[in-house]
Amino acid sequence: MKTIACKDMGMACDFVAKADTQEEVLMKLAEHGKEVHNMTDADMTPELKEMAIASIKEE
Ligand SMILES: [Zn+2]
Repeated sequence: MKTIACKDMGMACDFVAKADTQEEVLMKLAEHGKEVHNMTDADMTPELKEMAIASIKEE
């Protein structure tokens, strides 16, 4: 199981995205960002994606 904690992305938020694959966990984090943090596709920069990938933990 791969997880990304929203707070590791610099947000004051307790959400943790969990999925079996890297693609899926990134997708879940992106969906959460859009719903809760009003992020848009334009905010999903390659830098942000790299940061998210670096924040992935294995559980
Ligand atoms: Zn969040």
